[in-house]
Amino acid sequence: MLELPEVEVLRKDLEKEVVGKRVKDVTVETASVVRPFHRNRPDLVKALEGRKIEAARRRGNIIFLELDEGMTWILDPGEAGSLHKETASEKPGPDTHMAATFTTGGALHVSEVADEPTVRIGVVPTDEALDAVGLSPDALDLFDDNPTWMEFGRFLAEADKPLKLLLVDPDLVAGIGPVYSDEILWEAGLRHDHPSSTLSTQETRRLYRATQEVIVAAMKAAGSSLDDAEADSMIDDEGESAQHLRVYGRDGKPCHRCRRPILRTRIKKGVYTYHCQQCMI
Ligand SMILES: [Zn+2]
Repeated sequence: MLELPEVEVLRKDLEKEVVGKRVKDVTVETASVVRPFHRNRPDLVKALEGRKIEAARRRGNIIFLELDEGMTWILDPGEAGSLHKETASEKPGPDTHMAATFTTGGALHVSEVADEPTVRIGVVPTDEALDAVGLSPDALDLFDDNPTWMEFGRFLAEADKPLKLLLVDPDLVAGIGPVYSDEILWEAGLRHDHPSSTLSTQETRRLYRATQEVIVAAMKAAGSSLDDAEADSMIDDEGESAQHLRVYGRDGKPCHRCRRPILRTRIKKGVYTYHCQQCMI
């Protein structure tokens, strides 16, 4: 999945590029991307054509473009969706699932290279948008909510869960997945199974600082996303992890802190963690 840092970079680009514009023509190439928000493609086309984009927001890893008339355009990039700025005359490519042109010129294409795309696109009333995408209103967005370290500490104590499972639980923390949960814990030097309610003050501060540092570094690494388009995969074809990642995808390779080999451990069905046995406590 795309995680919070990459999606925040997308949001910023959209804020610059499409806020203030009015949607002209909409084409949907792949019917499945409009569900569950719409019954069929014409439903989305009708809801979006003619609407003006007033703001670009994000919660967790989902983009919400606020439209006039109290509606919101949901863009859920799913596993690897990407957005491309195009000219209005550019025909949608084979991996483009939806395209919208603007009355002032230019277009936005939503793409994903996948047999079964995971991007989801819809227009819903703004006050129903969080519900429509299944985002818990109580889940903490580590960037948007900007908690103080003391608020963060109270949140950890109340949640009372092993740290890795807490960070990837969408009901507790929005937009953090397998990649940045491991990066944050490595940066903090804390084990994945360390119960969140037993952190010392110092450990809480370390974890707090690590969340901020990892998210900011990842946003820098993501650069600008609308132009050079393809969502960078975190692990390339040769099995090398992206350069800004310190632990994710590096099993068997030396830890950047203590040189011991990084391990990949199964926590439960479908949840793995990359970690260092030596320098995470
Ligand atoms: Zn280490």
